Amino acid sequence: MSVEQHRQLVTEVPGPRSRALHERKVAAVSAGVGTTLPVYVERAAGGVLVDVDGNHLIDFGSGIAVTTVGNAAPRVVEGVQQQVADFTHTCFMVTPYEEYVSVCEKLGELTPGDHQKRSALFNSGAEAVENAVKVARHHTGRDAIVVFDHAYHGRTNLTMALTAKNMPYKHRFGPFAGEVYRAPMAYPYRWPGGAEACADEAFEAFVSTVHTQVGEDNAAAVLIEPIQGEGGFIVPPPGWLARVAEWCREHGILLIADEIQTGFARTGDWFACDHEGVVPDLITTAKGMAGGLPLAGVTGRAEIMDSVHTGGLGGTYGGNPVACAAALGAIETMQADDLCGRAREIEALFLPRLRGLAERHPDRVGDVRGRGAMLAIELVTDAGSRTPDAALTAAVHQACSASGLVTLTCGTFGNVFRFLPPLSIGDDLMEEGLDLFEAAFENAL
Ligand SMILES: *Cc1c(COP(=O)(O)O)cnc(C)c1O
Repeated sequence: MSVEQHRQLVTEVPGPRSRALHERKVAAVSAGVGTTLPVYVERAAGGVLVDVDGNHLIDFGSGIAVTTVGNAAPRVVEGVQQQVADFTHTCFMVTPYEEYVSVCEKLGELTPGDHQKRSALFNSGAEAVENAVKVARHHTGRDAIVVFDHAYHGRTNLTMALTAKNMPYKHRFGPFAGEVYRAPMAYPYRWPGGAEACADEAFEAFVSTVHTQVGEDNAAAVLIEPIQGEGGFIVPPPGWLARVAEWCREHGILLIADEIQTGFARTGDWFACDHEGVVPDLITTAKGMAGGLPLAGVTGRAEIMDSVHTGGLGGTYGGNPVACAAALGAIETMQADDLCGRAREIEALFLPRLRGLAERHPDRVGDVRGRGAMLAIELVTDAGSRTPDAALTAAVHQACSASGLVTLTCGTFGNVFRFLPPLSIGDDLMEEGLDLFEAAFENAL
């Protein structure tokens, strides 16, 4: 691998060169664009980021679940280099090319269900979600979209309306798009009636929300992340999603699975829906699909996707050939290296460590959850009240960064640590990262 797979700090973090670049950033880049860790990266591969000061950092974030196959993964680099030399853009809507078609074929093969499918490609996750909503409304002739508490679907105008959390995503950015309705999420750890009652009560609450606030016949689609991402890595109880899917089918409401974060081997299956045997009508993909290049997709039942008039979907750059070549390289890597299996191995390595930490600190680690290489712990002030402890989360995060471990937090209450290592990371680096995390946690108490 082009980058040595070990952690090594040669300066404090961030070091002097990163600090100098950060001064330039502050002077040139909008303050609205934040940075989690102002360490400027020069190279990256496997599970390591190398910064401009020469520090080697362990990567537990994958640039938010994007570099699933690893940074600058060999097949991605090869595909991109070839493609960028052949041609960079024609616009698929003007003069098409094979790479776009090949990515759509792969999406058709790999997404849940063996029915006929069609896909369309876009540039970002938010754009894919917007287009899934367009297709669902067009096909059903209905307006309403049902989303959930803690949902995250993007930052464009429509997707802000679909996203639950005000700060930082929505605050003073309205007015928002209409005909969006929100149901309670099946969140076992915080379900008022307790985790045992969560599946049944959350299903009833969902049905009641649609019935009383929307009317079944007015609902075009239910849009859900099968495991919620930014909202806190919330895993609904087994069977709940399948009941929601079944109920939607009975009422002619489309189920859109937003698998932008969960998709492409991240959770130990190709898609998180696979684990539950759920077959959505439409599925949105992005993040892990193209090894770091911007590419997103909407895939769905052929009769739904083909119901849109010609010219109704598209965009100048959507399905750019270089991004498509990257996706083909990334998908080939996932298949050849069995990255679904690797994600399950990562779960097997991480979970006992996280559970051990929870057993040693039952008062502060409220919940350990997730699937595959998408795992999280939720921190609280005490086990009785379950009050979210955002301050402890921030302190641990700070200490991890200083020790050369890149971690991400999330959650509506800012008290969840999420672990999203690249699936190309080695076991030694993961163990070392977990040692650093535990030390940071125990020192911050
Ligand atoms: C990241 C994300 C999005 C938005 O994707 P962008 O590429 O940032 O627009 C939408 N949905 C989910 C579940 C995500 O994790």
